[in-house]
Amino acid sequence: MAAKKLIPCLLVSAALVAVAGRAAAEAPLMEPVEPVVITGQATVAGVAAGAAEALSGYIRIPTTNPPGDEIAGARYLSGLLEAEGLEPSIYESEPGRANVYARLPGTGEKKALLLLSHMDVVPADESQWQHGPYQAEVVDGDLYGRGALDCKGPGIIHALTLIALKRLGQPLERDIVLLATADEEVGGGLGAKWMVDNHFELFGDVEFVLNEGGFIHRVEDKPLLYSLNAAEKGPCWFKVTARGEPGHGSRPAKETAPTRLIEALHKLVAWERPHEVGPVVAGYYAAYAAIDESHARQFRQLDRALEDDEFYRWFTDDPSWAALIQDTVAPTVLVGSSKTNVVPREVSAEVDSRLLPGHACDDFLGDVRALIGGEFVTVEALAVAFPSSQSRLDNELTRAVERLAAEEADKAVVLPGLLTGFTDSHYFREKGIDAYGFVPLVVDPGQRKSVHAPDERVTVAELEAAVKRMVRLVELVSQ
Ligand SMILES: [Zn+2]
Repeated sequence: MAAKKLIPCLLVSAALVAVAGRAAAEAPLMEPVEPVVITGQATVAGVAAGAAEALSGYIRIPTTNPPGDEIAGARYLSGLLEAEGLEPSIYESEPGRANVYARLPGTGEKKALLLLSHMDVVPADESQWQHGPYQAEVVDGDLYGRGALDCKGPGIIHALTLIALKRLGQPLERDIVLLATADEEVGGGLGAKWMVDNHFELFGDVEFVLNEGGFIHRVEDKPLLYSLNAAEKGPCWFKVTARGEPGHGSRPAKETAPTRLIEALHKLVAWERPHEVGPVVAGYYAAYAAIDESHARQFRQLDRALEDDEFYRWFTDDPSWAALIQDTVAPTVLVGSSKTNVVPREVSAEVDSRLLPGHACDDFLGDVRALIGGEFVTVEALAVAFPSSQSRLDNELTRAVERLAAEEADKAVVLPGLLTGFTDSHYFREKGIDAYGFVPLVVDPGQRKSVHAPDERVTVAELEAAVKRMVRLVELVSQ
């Protein structure tokens, strides 16, 4: 069974996070960041060699969300591109909340490819960091800073990819579009959503989106693993409210608002929802079988294997795996009395549910009401609810990723993935554009855990290699 832990969860969630307002104020005031010009020659390696310096400057610009204030980051990215003769535009959804858009024209024989990243970052509690979140220190070959992986590193990989391709001057059959957005970390309302709602004309010819959401993983002496996320679960957030007679804590009735809520939540978390293996998850485990021989037979036919109780228990024992085959229910915010001796009239719980592709929030809430609703317990939808989204797994983009993988020294394995969290990709999938979470950057398990955590970091040599891979990937899909 130990083999299960061979690969840590590959499905790094860039989920919407609850951010603490206080942390935003902790970001120090920074000296103005000098614009960086990539000085290398007109070779991919020459451009890639400037990646660490370019990322360092970007990390030093505080774009913690809230408040976001991405405008300085937007000017910085624009400056990088302008120095190369590209013509980026900045779109402000609100004062200071900026999105950067640029386009490298191709011959137009094929539709465009969009490289998507976000400029805002989650707050950092500096006291928990060994190397400060906004200093961009390089220690033992790793560059530390908030956003190194999520998502300023990918943003620099995208910008340098455009720069390298422009310098190479070779004709591509697609336009390559860059979009760096505001506000992703709190849902994208002033970023990707705003751009899609207000400026969709910029993306009308886009066929594929490459976004954050999947990296490359190296596990022991195995081939590299390309995590190509093609789907995301859909959030379906709701609130459960229980009511009852208020009273004094010293003389409680048998049934009160709190006891009713406890009972309802108990039923909710014990609810056995049927499992379902969708095409992306089936593809993930079929590919996984190639590197984990101990369960290869089951992984190749996961749906059937899950009918065996013992295997089912083993598989769902890991929450990150269980979440790939089930709708999940997580009570999070609990609100009740503010006084120990007061039985309140009303208490509530907010619940974070994530639904598999194809499952509708309305239907799900109908089931929840049937399970726990009643005279004293009500269930209402919260604002965050949108359908799960899924992109196709067999098209020019996915085949180009396969070819890139085949070019690795040890032939990498491509693992299609279902993200349990969500990114900006869904705004494009909802418009019928295939979007993928894939950044061709090798990330080790410690680095992966540093996303949204202290000491976020990226290996400088891997950052440069990622620029080279991304240029190659764009070539593979555009010629
Ligand atoms: Zn992110």
